[in-house]
Amino acid sequence: MSSVAPDEIVRNFVAGRFVDPDPTRLFDDVDPVTGRAVASVHEADASLVDRAVRSARNAVAGEWSKWSTRERAALLRRAALRIEERFEEFVEAEIRDTGKPITHAREVDVARAVANLSTFADVVSAAGESSFRSELPGGRQALNYVVRKPLGVVAVVVPWNLPLLLLTWKVAPALACGNAVVVKPSEETPTTATLLADVFREVGLPDGVYNVVHGYGLDSAGSHLVGHSGVDGVTFTGSTATGTQVMRAAATGVRPVSFELGGKNAAVVFADADLDATLDGLTRSVFSNTGQVCLCTERVYVQRSVFDDVVEGLADRAARLVLGDPRDTGTTTGPLISRAHRDKVLAYFALAEAAGARAVVGGGVPDLGAKYEDGAWIEPTLWVGMDNDARPMREEIFGPVAGLVPFDTDAEAISLANDSEYGLAASVWTSDLVRGHQVAQAMNVGMSWVNTWFLRDLRSPFGGAGLSGIGREGGESSLHFYTEPTNVCVQL
Ligand code: NAD
Repeated sequence: MSSVAPDEIVRNFVAGRFVDPDPTRLFDDVDPVTGRAVASVHEADASLVDRAVRSARNAVAGEWSKWSTRERAALLRRAALRIEERFEEFVEAEIRDTGKPITHAREVDVARAVANLSTFADVVSAAGESSFRSELPGGRQALNYVVRKPLGVVAVVVPWNLPLLLLTWKVAPALACGNAVVVKPSEETPTTATLLADVFREVGLPDGVYNVVHGYGLDSAGSHLVGHSGVDGVTFTGSTATGTQVMRAAATGVRPVSFELGGKNAAVVFADADLDATLDGLTRSVFSNTGQVCLCTERVYVQRSVFDDVVEGLADRAARLVLGDPRDTGTTTGPLISRAHRDKVLAYFALAEAAGARAVVGGGVPDLGAKYEDGAWIEPTLWVGMDNDARPMREEIFGPVAGLVPFDTDAEAISLANDSEYGLAASVWTSDLVRGHQVAQAMNVGMSWVNTWFLRDLRSPFGGAGLSGIGREGGESSLHFYTEPTNVCVQL
């Protein structure tokens, strides 16, 4: 039984059951392609969030606590397999909520969710306990070892841009380590978190280990959850502004937080780079998912001798992006997530113009005909002529946009790229490997690519510096966040 047929209500999932919706607490799930509501969502109130947290507390103390690492890993693998079997159902749900092109939903969102579940099954199975002997005064010895225990109940709060991918990135390691979770998907994209509940039920996860509460952030399910005293840790992906509020809530009770926040990511293009490969890479990094990936590039610094070629080549590729029906495999670019988000992005278009920028491509709202006129469509846009101090070069816009700025020397490129309060990701494009390593290492970011973008090994640490986050997740870093170590010292 799925709870998410289009004409139905997207339900909360608590203690192993879909909750009967309260008809007085429904909000619309809007398709950003057309602007039409495609489902209703049951907003969880404080008492339902409380029930979800209590069910998770009961679960961590119950049968789940007796499961071995091997059994938990096996369950994650079964869930990965089940998502593969129900692959197109997840793809359709993701498209319905976000309007993203089907190729993206298939190749990135749902494929990565499968990889998240199976990778953390592997990572937790391979993790060893560290133990070492200590020399004590008088020649005595002690044996030290570390036992890692689950944190307990983990609140997982995620955004709308890669709903299932970002959710499973946190849920998989949390469950692998033996925690119970209460997840709060974005109000814009409630469906795949709910479908995942169905999958976990099918593969035999004990009741209460995975709970879903729907709703908004402030004064709704989000703040009820992160402020709940029964939560032992908070893992959050979203904007820096919201992260600040979540951190305040988590401070009560000194709960640990893991934050993956916003970015204002730079690309640095040297004159010695392979131009065609670089332009293809930049096109992906600026425009993928309509620019709504935290890792997307919004600032492009180009060595002066190739500046005009890069501007022209990137504008040409941007003009060839295909906007339209997300279910058509030829579509490359969907709408933004909502009209409200488009208003925000359009405000930056006005700011860019006021800052003296010239749009070499885009700069407005496309006319895609009557079918799409109420959707959240926007033109892929590139600006030149803007100073590094202009607000559109400093603040995260989260749309299909970038400003291009010329530079002369390596030192100048590094200084321009690092001139940001954010520190999530950067990419360096060059055929000189030594220069590539040097510049990539000089970037003050959590993730620095050379001649590629978005390529991830899920065992490596992921996160951001500065306003882009706190902590790292991925591989062992995730195991560290989702467990509490106890050092046992035995005098021998
Ligand atoms: P957002 O911060 O508005 O919302 C994120 C989530 O937090 C949503 O589920 C929302 O309902 C909830 N929320 C809002 N206020 C809350 C509160 N006071 N207490 C508890 N929960 C609250 O972000 P968004 O607009 O959904 O997503 C876009 C942002 O996410 C961008 O800034 C983007 O860079 C960032 N992001 C970062 C990463 C990363 O890995 N660093 C990945 C994806 C997205």
